[in-house]
Amino acid sequence: MKEVYNMEIKFLGSGGGLVSPDVNYHSNMVVTFDNGYKLLIDAGTHIQFSLAEAGIKPEDIDGIAITHQHADHVGGLEWLAFYNKFMVNRDEKLHLFYGERRAGGYPSEALSELWETTLKGGLEILNKSKVTIKEYFDIYKSLGGVRFIPNNHLEYTTKVNTHNKLAQDIKSYAFSFSLLLENVFISGDAKYPTEQMLNIMQQVDTVFYDCEFANYEGSVHAQYHELKQLPDDIKSKMYLYHHNLTNKDIDDAMNTFVKEAGFAGIVKKGDTFTV
Ligand SMILES: [Zn+2]
Repeated sequence: MKEVYNMEIKFLGSGGGLVSPDVNYHSNMVVTFDNGYKLLIDAGTHIQFSLAEAGIKPEDIDGIAITHQHADHVGGLEWLAFYNKFMVNRDEKLHLFYGERRAGGYPSEALSELWETTLKGGLEILNKSKVTIKEYFDIYKSLGGVRFIPNNHLEYTTKVNTHNKLAQDIKSYAFSFSLLLENVFISGDAKYPTEQMLNIMQQVDTVFYDCEFANYEGSVHAQYHELKQLPDDIKSKMYLYHHNLTNKDIDDAMNTFVKEAGFAGIVKKGDTFTV
Protein backbone atom coordinates (compact mmCIF):
# COMPACT_ATOMS: atom_id res chain seq x y z
CA MET A 1 0.00 0.00 0.00
CA LYS A 2 1.36 3.37 -0.81
CA GLU A 3 2.11 5.65 2.06
CA VAL A 4 0.23 8.89 1.66
CA TYR A 5 1.28 12.12 3.29
CA ASN A 6 -1.07 15.03 3.47
CA MET A 7 0.79 18.13 2.62
CA GLU A 8 0.46 21.64 1.37
CA ILE A 9 2.69 22.80 -1.45
CA LYS A 10 3.17 26.53 -1.80
CA PHE A 11 4.87 27.87 -4.91
CA LEU A 12 6.98 30.87 -3.86
CA GLY A 13 7.37 31.41 -7.59
CA SER A 14 6.61 29.46 -10.75
CA GLY A 15 9.10 30.99 -13.17
CA GLY A 16 12.12 29.59 -14.98
CA GLY A 17 15.77 30.49 -14.52
CA LEU A 18 15.59 33.63 -16.66
CA VAL A 19 12.51 35.14 -15.05
CA SER A 20 12.80 38.64 -13.64
CA PRO A 21 11.75 39.01 -9.98
CA ASP A 22 9.37 41.86 -10.74
CA VAL A 23 7.08 39.50 -12.68
CA ASN A 24 7.58 36.09 -11.08
CA TYR A 25 10.05 34.33 -8.82
CA HIS A 26 12.08 31.18 -9.37
CA SER A 27 10.19 27.91 -9.02
CA ASN A 28 11.01 27.19 -5.38
CA MET A 29 8.33 25.67 -3.15
CA VAL A 30 7.57 25.22 0.51
CA VAL A 31 6.02 21.87 1.40
CA THR A 32 4.33 21.72 4.80
CA PHE A 33 3.70 18.19 6.05
CA ASP A 34 0.98 17.02 8.45
CA ASN A 35 3.35 17.17 11.39
CA GLY A 36 4.30 20.79 10.66
CA TYR A 37 7.67 20.01 9.10
CA LYS A 38 8.50 22.60 6.46
CA LEU A 39 10.58 21.46 3.51
CA LEU A 40 11.90 24.01 1.08
CA ILE A 41 12.31 22.57 -2.40
CA ASP A 42 15.20 24.48 -3.94
CA ALA A 43 16.62 27.81 -2.83
CA GLY A 44 17.44 29.99 -5.80
CA THR A 45 18.76 33.53 -5.97
CA HIS A 46 15.24 34.97 -5.46
CA ILE A 47 14.68 33.10 -2.21
CA GLN A 48 15.13 36.03 0.20
CA PHE A 49 12.43 37.96 -1.59
CA SER A 50 10.05 35.12 -2.40
CA LEU A 51 10.05 33.87 1.21
CA ALA A 52 9.43 37.41 2.49
CA GLU A 53 6.57 37.95 0.05
CA ALA A 54 4.98 34.67 1.17
CA GLY A 55 5.34 35.69 4.83
CA ILE A 56 7.62 32.74 5.63
CA LYS A 57 10.66 33.36 7.80
CA PRO A 58 13.90 31.47 7.06
CA GLU A 59 13.81 30.15 10.64
CA ASP A 60 10.45 28.45 9.88
CA ILE A 61 12.18 26.15 7.38
CA ASP A 62 13.25 22.77 8.77
CA GLY A 63 14.87 21.23 5.71
CA ILE A 64 15.90 21.96 2.15
CA ALA A 65 15.78 19.50 -0.75
CA ILE A 66 17.73 20.37 -3.86
CA THR A 67 16.91 19.25 -7.40
CA HIS A 68 20.06 20.43 -9.18
CA GLN A 69 22.81 23.00 -9.16
CA HIS A 70 21.62 25.86 -11.35
CA ALA A 71 21.44 29.21 -9.55
CA ASP A 72 17.63 29.43 -9.71
CA HIS A 73 17.71 26.31 -7.48
CA VAL A 74 20.79 26.74 -5.29
CA GLY A 75 21.81 30.41 -5.55
CA GLY A 76 20.22 31.28 -2.19
CA LEU A 77 21.79 28.47 -0.16
CA GLU A 78 24.76 30.50 1.06
CA TRP A 79 22.45 33.17 2.46
CA LEU A 80 20.30 30.54 4.18
CA ALA A 81 23.40 28.90 5.65
CA PHE A 82 24.82 32.16 7.04
CA TYR A 83 21.42 33.45 8.16
CA ASN A 84 20.74 30.31 10.16
CA LYS A 85 24.24 30.29 11.57
CA PHE A 86 24.29 33.87 12.81
CA MET A 87 20.73 35.13 13.03
CA VAL A 88 18.73 32.15 14.26
CA ASN A 89 18.95 30.43 17.56
CA ARG A 90 17.87 26.93 16.67
CA ASP A 91 18.25 23.58 18.38
CA GLU A 92 18.88 21.69 15.17
CA LYS A 93 20.79 22.66 12.08
CA LEU A 94 18.91 22.98 8.83
CA HIS A 95 18.52 19.59 7.16
CA LEU A 96 19.88 19.40 3.64
CA PHE A 97 18.86 16.69 1.17
CA TYR A 98 20.20 16.17 -2.31
CA GLY A 99 20.38 12.98 -4.36
CA GLU A 100 20.08 9.32 -3.60
CA ARG A 101 21.68 8.24 -0.33
CA ARG A 102 24.57 5.81 -0.47
CA ALA A 103 24.48 2.35 1.05
CA GLY A 104 24.97 2.43 4.80
CA GLY A 105 23.02 5.66 5.12
CA TYR A 106 25.87 7.90 4.04
CA PRO A 107 24.87 11.17 2.38
CA SER A 108 24.73 11.22 -1.39
CA GLU A 109 27.58 11.97 -3.75
CA ALA A 110 25.48 14.85 -5.00
CA LEU A 111 25.80 16.56 -1.62
CA SER A 112 29.60 16.45 -1.75
CA GLU A 113 29.43 17.80 -5.33
CA LEU A 114 27.20 20.63 -4.12
CA TRP A 115 29.74 21.59 -1.47
CA GLU A 116 32.78 21.26 -3.73
CA THR A 117 31.40 23.06 -6.78
CA THR A 118 28.85 25.55 -5.47
CA LEU A 119 29.03 26.28 -1.74
CA LYS A 120 32.64 25.94 -0.64
CA GLY A 121 33.84 29.25 -2.13
CA GLY A 122 31.67 31.31 0.18
CA LEU A 123 31.19 29.05 3.18
CA GLU A 124 34.49 27.29 3.77
CA ILE A 125 36.28 29.97 5.77
CA LEU A 126 34.54 30.79 9.02
CA ASN A 127 36.07 32.63 11.99
CA LYS A 128 39.59 32.19 10.63
CA SER A 129 39.29 28.45 10.17
CA LYS A 130 38.20 26.00 7.51
CA VAL A 131 34.86 24.29 7.99
CA THR A 132 32.83 21.76 6.03
CA ILE A 133 29.20 21.53 4.96
CA LYS A 134 28.40 19.94 8.34
CA GLU A 135 29.04 23.26 10.06
CA TYR A 136 25.88 24.64 8.50
CA PHE A 137 23.65 21.72 7.63
CA ASP A 138 22.65 18.36 9.02
CA ILE A 139 23.28 16.15 6.01
CA TYR A 140 22.69 12.84 7.76
CA LYS A 141 18.90 12.92 8.13
CA SER A 142 16.83 10.88 5.71
CA LEU A 143 13.70 12.26 4.16
CA GLY A 144 10.90 9.71 4.51
CA GLY A 145 8.35 9.79 1.73
CA VAL A 146 10.51 11.70 -0.68
CA ARG A 147 12.51 10.00 -3.40
CA PHE A 148 15.07 11.50 -5.68
CA ILE A 149 14.73 10.24 -9.23
CA PRO A 150 17.37 11.03 -11.80
CA ASN A 151 15.72 12.89 -14.66
CA ASN A 152 16.83 14.04 -18.07
CA HIS A 153 17.24 17.78 -17.58
CA LEU A 154 20.89 18.00 -18.53
CA GLU A 155 22.81 15.35 -20.35
CA TYR A 156 25.51 15.36 -22.88
CA THR A 157 27.17 12.96 -25.19
CA THR A 158 30.77 13.54 -26.03
CA LYS A 159 33.00 11.75 -28.46
CA VAL A 160 36.44 10.84 -27.23
CA ASN A 161 39.10 9.98 -29.77
CA THR A 162 41.61 7.64 -28.31
CA HIS A 163 44.83 6.82 -30.22
CA ASN A 164 43.91 5.14 -33.46
CA LYS A 165 40.83 3.64 -31.91
CA LEU A 166 37.23 4.12 -32.81
CA ALA A 167 35.51 7.07 -31.24
CA GLN A 168 33.50 6.17 -28.21
CA ASP A 169 30.31 7.72 -26.99
CA ILE A 170 30.37 8.74 -23.39
CA LYS A 171 27.16 9.76 -21.79
CA SER A 172 27.07 11.79 -18.63
CA TYR A 173 24.34 13.20 -16.46
CA ALA A 174 24.13 16.32 -14.41
CA PHE A 175 22.72 16.19 -10.92
CA SER A 176 19.13 16.77 -11.69
CA PHE A 177 16.46 14.96 -9.83
CA SER A 178 12.73 14.71 -9.69
CA LEU A 179 11.09 14.58 -6.33
CA LEU A 180 8.37 12.09 -5.62
CA LEU A 181 6.43 12.75 -2.48
CA GLU A 182 4.49 9.49 -2.81
CA ASN A 183 1.27 10.99 -4.13
CA VAL A 184 2.75 13.88 -6.00
CA PHE A 185 5.41 14.07 -8.68
CA ILE A 186 7.48 17.23 -9.05
CA SER A 187 9.60 17.07 -12.17
CA GLY A 188 12.27 19.57 -11.26
CA ASP A 189 13.79 21.02 -14.41
CA ALA A 190 13.12 18.30 -16.96
CA LYS A 191 12.76 17.61 -20.63
CA TYR A 192 9.96 15.50 -22.11
CA PRO A 193 9.49 12.63 -19.61
CA THR A 194 11.43 9.39 -19.89
CA GLU A 195 9.66 6.02 -19.62
CA GLN A 196 10.61 5.82 -15.93
CA MET A 197 9.19 9.26 -15.23
CA LEU A 198 6.01 8.42 -17.16
CA ASN A 199 5.55 5.24 -15.13
CA ILE A 200 5.79 7.14 -11.87
CA MET A 201 3.48 9.87 -13.12
CA GLN A 202 0.84 7.23 -13.93
CA GLN A 203 0.78 6.20 -10.27
CA VAL A 204 0.45 9.55 -8.52
CA ASP A 205 -2.52 11.87 -8.08
CA THR A 206 -0.89 15.20 -8.94
CA VAL A 207 1.96 16.12 -11.26
CA PHE A 208 3.84 19.41 -11.47
CA TYR A 209 5.90 19.59 -14.64
CA ASP A 210 8.51 21.90 -16.12
CA CYS A 211 7.02 23.60 -19.18
CA GLU A 212 8.48 26.14 -21.55
CA PHE A 213 5.98 27.96 -23.72
CA ALA A 214 8.56 29.63 -25.98
CA ASN A 215 10.17 27.47 -28.66
CA TYR A 216 13.92 27.32 -28.14
CA GLU A 217 16.21 25.16 -30.23
CA GLY A 218 18.07 22.57 -28.15
CA SER A 219 16.08 23.35 -25.06
CA VAL A 220 16.86 21.64 -21.77
CA HIS A 221 13.22 22.02 -20.70
CA ALA A 222 10.06 20.28 -21.85
CA GLN A 223 8.19 22.42 -24.34
CA TYR A 224 4.47 22.98 -24.33
CA HIS A 225 3.93 21.54 -27.82
CA GLU A 226 5.71 18.33 -26.73
CA LEU A 227 3.81 17.94 -23.45
CA LYS A 228 0.53 18.32 -25.37
CA GLN A 229 1.25 14.88 -26.86
CA LEU A 230 1.16 13.15 -23.45
CA PRO A 231 -1.70 10.73 -22.72
CA ASP A 232 -4.90 12.41 -21.47
CA ASP A 233 -4.84 10.62 -18.08
CA ILE A 234 -1.47 12.21 -17.30
CA LYS A 235 -2.29 15.65 -18.68
CA SER A 236 -5.49 15.84 -16.64
CA LYS A 237 -3.50 15.79 -13.38
CA MET A 238 -0.59 17.88 -14.65
CA TYR A 239 0.03 21.49 -13.62
CA LEU A 240 2.63 23.35 -15.68
CA TYR A 241 5.33 25.33 -13.89
CA HIS A 242 8.90 26.64 -14.32
CA HIS A 243 7.59 28.59 -17.30
CA ASN A 244 8.40 31.94 -18.84
CA LEU A 245 5.00 33.52 -18.13
CA THR A 246 4.34 36.39 -15.77
CA ASN A 247 1.50 36.18 -13.28
CA LYS A 248 -0.35 38.68 -15.45
CA ASP A 249 0.03 36.44 -18.52
CA ILE A 250 -1.72 33.61 -16.69
CA ASP A 251 -5.17 35.07 -16.95
CA ASP A 252 -8.40 33.14 -17.29
CA ALA A 253 -7.98 32.92 -21.07
CA MET A 254 -4.54 31.30 -20.77
CA ASN A 255 -5.77 28.87 -18.14
CA THR A 256 -8.76 27.98 -20.34
CA PHE A 257 -6.37 27.50 -23.27
CA VAL A 258 -4.26 24.86 -21.45
CA LYS A 259 -7.32 23.24 -19.88
CA GLU A 260 -8.84 22.82 -23.35
CA ALA A 261 -5.61 21.04 -24.32
CA GLY A 262 -6.28 18.62 -21.43
CA PHE A 263 -3.97 19.96 -18.68
CA ALA A 264 -5.03 20.64 -15.09
CA GLY A 265 -3.70 24.21 -15.22
CA ILE A 266 -0.72 26.55 -14.98
CA VAL A 267 0.93 27.37 -11.67
CA LYS A 268 1.08 31.03 -10.65
CA LYS A 269 3.40 32.61 -8.11
CA GLY A 270 1.85 32.12 -4.66
CA ASP A 271 -0.42 29.21 -5.64
CA THR A 272 -0.99 26.66 -2.89
CA PHE A 273 -2.03 23.05 -3.45
CA THR A 274 -3.21 20.60 -0.84
CA VAL A 275 -2.33 17.08 -1.98
ZN1 LIG B 1 15.43 26.02 -13.19
